[in-house]
Amino acid sequence: MSTPSHPTAITFVEVGPRDGLQNEKRLISTADKLTLVQLAIGAGARRIEVTSFVNPQKVPQMADAEAVCAGLPQRDDVTYIGLVMNLRGAERALATGRIDQLGAVCVATDRFAMANQGQTSDESVAAAKVIIALAREHGRTAQATIAASFGCPFEGEVAEDRVVAMAASLAEAGPVEVALADTIGVGNPAHVARLVERVRAAIAPLPVRVHFHNTRGTGLANVWAAVAAGATVVDGALGGLGGCPFAPGAAGNVASEDVVYMLERAGIATGMDLKRMIEASHWLANVMDRKLPGMVAQAPVFPKAAEE
Ligand code: ZN
Repeated sequence: MSTPSHPTAITFVEVGPRDGLQNEKRLISTADKLTLVQLAIGAGARRIEVTSFVNPQKVPQMADAEAVCAGLPQRDDVTYIGLVMNLRGAERALATGRIDQLGAVCVATDRFAMANQGQTSDESVAAAKVIIALAREHGRTAQATIAASFGCPFEGEVAEDRVVAMAASLAEAGPVEVALADTIGVGNPAHVARLVERVRAAIAPLPVRVHFHNTRGTGLANVWAAVAAGATVVDGALGGLGGCPFAPGAAGNVASEDVVYMLERAGIATGMDLKRMIEASHWLANVMDRKLPGMVAQAPVFPKAAEE
């Protein structure tokens, strides 16, 4: 195996306010969601997935999407991302006037696509391309995510050729990037390195973003493999919260602070302030009233702070 040449920097995307919270049974207040967004900004996040515009009957935690948007800090230097599954969601997101970037999601398998958004996989790609085009027509940008890129809760293995073809098709519509999402946390570093490399080649010069869940403990290893293979944008959720209402057994995202600790210690800049991320994670654990899965926030500070 050739020695991978690591980049010197990646772009970090905080997805805690949406992916982190969406599966929580207890409704989190709009005010707490906005505090989480503010803490993420304070810790350096400049791209934040703030909510999703989905059916509130199906995802009650996201029913306050419009209220969250209305309360977002006015920041020219922060890109607010709103996740949308269809045209109706895209129109809601655009109508808020506060969403800078639409997050379009398509799914690599038919059965998960039906469960997640009532479409076949092909239909979900077509819908994502319409959403990307709509965002551009409105002077916004869009990101595209391929859910279940590394495995499906219903169909099992997902063919790499299928994911590469989907990424190439999405790239034609002009998103800012294409993401590979391990929605159910089944990926392993070898698979990740292979697929990132293939997708990178298929969509260049568009960046590859990666989105990992730590369901089986491979989350951080997968982030490392992805970055080494050329992914330049990485998602994480503060505290390692997360799950998917439509994917049985889905567990938390990789914890933002764990990702940032690993990358920064390895000499890869993230633009994030780890100390403030840990403070945000502690605040979030307090709001959730339980210990969160992220590990760095539970460990002693290393190296000992010399700056104060
Ligand atoms: Zn996710």
